[in-house]
Amino acid sequence: MAEHQLALPDEIRDHAVALLTELCTISSSSGEAEGLRRMCERLSAELSRRGLTVETVEEPDMTGVPQPVLLARGPAAKESHLLLVGHMDTVLEAAPPRREGDRLWATGALDMKGGLAAFLGALDLLAARGQKPPADLLLVVVPDEEVGGVISEHAIRRWAALARAILVIEPGESRGDAETLVAGRRGLSEWRLEATGKAAHSGLAYWQGRSALAAAADWAAQAQRLSERGPGVTVNVARLVGGDSDFVNDLAHHHELLGTPRRRNVIPDRALGEGEVRFLAPAEGVRILGRLEQLAGTVAAAHQVSMSFLRGATVPPVDPHGPGAALVQRAVELAAARGWRLEVEQDRGGISFPNYVPDPSRVPIVDGLGPVGDGMHTRQEYVSLLSLERRVVLLADLLASLA
Ligand SMILES: [Zn+2]
Repeated sequence: MAEHQLALPDEIRDHAVALLTELCTISSSSGEAEGLRRMCERLSAELSRRGLTVETVEEPDMTGVPQPVLLARGPAAKESHLLLVGHMDTVLEAAPPRREGDRLWATGALDMKGGLAAFLGALDLLAARGQKPPADLLLVVVPDEEVGGVISEHAIRRWAALARAILVIEPGESRGDAETLVAGRRGLSEWRLEATGKAAHSGLAYWQGRSALAAAADWAAQAQRLSERGPGVTVNVARLVGGDSDFVNDLAHHHELLGTPRRRNVIPDRALGEGEVRFLAPAEGVRILGRLEQLAGTVAAAHQVSMSFLRGATVPPVDPHGPGAALVQRAVELAAARGWRLEVEQDRGGISFPNYVPDPSRVPIVDGLGPVGDGMHTRQEYVSLLSLERRVVLLADLLASLA
């Protein structure tokens, strides 16, 4: 039976559950200053007791209000480190926790106080085995992940730059008897399309006009069709505005034209498109942007308009076949050796911690190491306590292998 193979002493399991329950009673929704500070204090006390050197630094949020970031270091975490990343904020304010069989129903139990409790349990398990965590361990716990905050982004950028590997203790997912961890996350590149045609009276000189709007719409339809299902790239045309150049270039003043008969007799000489592409591997991002630019050339020629394709900001992807693949495989094998099945998510949606890493193609990143459950960000949030046990053992085994 799995529980037997996990070989997690009862007192360590019970302590992890009690600690998680306690952390979930602290109301620490994003921006809830007092609760975030209490989370910091409780975590600091628990981490210090387990031999890490803890420091709380105050960082300004988007509006300049200082919020706490917790840093816990092993004795050799100096120039480079093994980085563990978590967050102490939740989406909702806390409701009283409730335990029912294998489930702990509580705010943040899954996302992601469960991951923090699993890490503390892993430190206990290592100590009970007479093992030590990696001496260069650095745990960073941020207060604003759930609002996509600047503190999270800055902290990851800063500490990831010097990391030899990055472990993220956000929750995995449940898949029947199995659970997942996360190997890949899509990156994105923003783009903008500008088209200029030739205005003309649609009644008197229709064939002298060149419609920038028709050209941009043609480009948009073809661009969207470059999207591929599965692990491939996707193209999203998020906005498309066309009309005469006064209308497009000063939309704020001219939107009242919509719904009126005015200027419908003008061949539209201006169009703008904006959107993004998403991709799992850096080379795929380069490829799709190249295709879109090429498409702009072809479509412009066909419609006899001028078109420019402009590249914008890029958030790099975490390639599931990149430098983290070996570490992901090791985690899968460690779980199997303890009698349970860990599956790999190659492509988890959304932008999260790993995307803030300055160069994810350089450093191994494993995400989704926290326990699984369901109901994230709702009043139906719960974490599986069997999964908590599994993740305590997995983190201990993984940390031991990285020491
Ligand atoms: Zn989270």
